[in-house]
Amino acid sequence: MALIIPNKSTCIFCNQVLKEGTDYGGFPPFVPNRDDELFIFSDNAFHIDCLNAAENSQKAIAYVDESINSRRPGNRKCIVTGEPITRQEDHIVIGYLTSDESSVLHRFNFVQIHRNNLAKWEDRPLLLSLLLELKASGNWQNHYAQRHLSVLIKDLTL
Ligand SMILES: [Zn+2]
Repeated sequence: MALIIPNKSTCIFCNQVLKEGTDYGGFPPFVPNRDDELFIFSDNAFHIDCLNAAENSQKAIAYVDESINSRRPGNRKCIVTGEPITRQEDHIVIGYLTSDESSVLHRFNFVQIHRNNLAKWEDRPLLLSLLLELKASGNWQNHYAQRHLSVLIKDLTL
């Protein structure tokens, strides 16, 4: 979740200080691509009123919810077998890729795979080629230190 210091942190939308006793909140870092339309919501703090007035706020809330829910222990299921993934080191998390429903990438949002099932996953070559294409296109600017896109490409390469 975005770190919020009352009376010091500012609202991403209006730039005013988040005063103690007022309604404010924050989103976790759920968008790893600086070029994404929902990037402004990711890892930022805001007044609840400003959030509600912002363009795409309902969309952002829906994706944050899905992002959080997909990582709950009971929901960490392999897309190939449907079996729960219990060990961190076996767990490949695609996470949020895009909110653009017309993009082929959209259906891969929040997909999770057990590392042992990667070779069996029939969509793996397609996703890998889409991610490589995205990387080459320059339409993905990493926001986080872990360099999400490169890590995904490495994870999906057999
Ligand atoms: Zn505000």
